[in-house]
Amino acid sequence: MRLASTRHASPEVPFLEALLRGLAPDGGLYLPTSLPPIDPQVMASWRGLPISEIAVRVLGHLIGDEFDRDAFEALVRDAFDFPAPTVPLSHDLSVLELFHGPTLAFKDFGARFLARAFGHVLAARGGHATILVATSGDTGSAVALGFHGVPRVQVVVLYPAGKVSPFQEAQMATLGGNVTALRVPGTFDDCQRLVKQAFIDPSLDDLHLSSANSINIGRLLPQAVYYFASWLALGGPAAGDVVFAVPSGNLGNLTAGVIAQRIGLPVRRFLVACNLNDVLPEYLRTGRYRARPARPTISNAMDVGDPSNFPRLAELHGRSFDALRTNLTGVSVSEEDTRRAIRQAHDADRYVLDPHGAVAFAAALRARQDAGEPGPIVALATAHPAKFGEVIREELGRAPELPAAWRDWASRPLMAVDLESADYTTFRTRLR
Ligand SMILES: *Cc1c(COP(=O)(O)O)cnc(C)c1O
Repeated sequence: MRLASTRHASPEVPFLEALLRGLAPDGGLYLPTSLPPIDPQVMASWRGLPISEIAVRVLGHLIGDEFDRDAFEALVRDAFDFPAPTVPLSHDLSVLELFHGPTLAFKDFGARFLARAFGHVLAARGGHATILVATSGDTGSAVALGFHGVPRVQVVVLYPAGKVSPFQEAQMATLGGNVTALRVPGTFDDCQRLVKQAFIDPSLDDLHLSSANSINIGRLLPQAVYYFASWLALGGPAAGDVVFAVPSGNLGNLTAGVIAQRIGLPVRRFLVACNLNDVLPEYLRTGRYRARPARPTISNAMDVGDPSNFPRLAELHGRSFDALRTNLTGVSVSEEDTRRAIRQAHDADRYVLDPHGAVAFAAALRARQDAGEPGPIVALATAHPAKFGEVIREELGRAPELPAAWRDWASRPLMAVDLESADYTTFRTRLR
């Protein structure tokens, strides 16, 4: 696979180069220059395969030629070692559950693959890297767990003291080994400022800092896999064209879905399900892209005021507003409608949605009941409801329990390193 920058002012590079770089040198985002389709009959023959085998095939089609085959298959199987079931509900709606990974949220898919691919390149080329992440919770835990134990990689996660959940903190700060958790006396913005400054500090060159954030193409491609898995679970060719409702923030998940569609997955269109932070739905309605500060909501991983993957989406649709509007339907979901969707899924099917999945479910219900959308609609559920126990308790009267294997996390001993202050010199000393 060759990749070009969305700003068209950097040389094309192969996948593994784009993976190491993250951002293109011109500041743009890497995107494949061509996306050859998979033969429909071949795709149909994958019915019944576990997601790890679907991943071997989809990712093999895209980037397999840059790896040794056995190493590639082992790496992919190791990354996709948890299921992503599609659960049928009333109204011919389904929910694609993306929360069975180690941090109980869908970012595990991208982070686990990225980490293993990174380890692979470093082993092949020699060298080492330090992954620096600033987090308000979910990204940091997915990256920390994804990279934990990967040789040649050190991980440093910065998070604001007292502002992440005990579960998230435990998932970052109890791992040890190659993962260092820095607790910063300040806000998420302070954490981000420190990380940004480190990236432009020449005195840290020998650490080979890298970012692993959501703009890395290595986090995006593995997310195309579960769209295939869901279509196959619905019956493959027998299901016809599917509509996916994607709970969206930085639009990485949606971009991955469009990539799946471009390589042949039969998708009728996408519902871009946003909370109050609805920059893309507004753009699709008005033709005006209006970035603005994020507003806090109960689906907080989607509180994004200037979604970073927008240039990729525009490029994938030939920079045509009409093409975007035909393929993507924007849906803005209020806080009250999110809460109502949690109650509706529970009333109808005894199904418990987290607030992010509920935003997608609300969009799917609206498409079915108000717009009369025919055919299968799949709402993506991106987090386990137990991560948002408080909201669920408010709507359903009781909080869901964490799955048994996760229950002891919050009681593990923390090994976080406390920064004495949020100034850069203090931070830099701790990086050494
Ligand atoms: C990150 C996240 C999202 C938003 O995904 P994008 O790829 O940024 O659009 C949705 N739900 C959850 C639970 C998340 O963690």
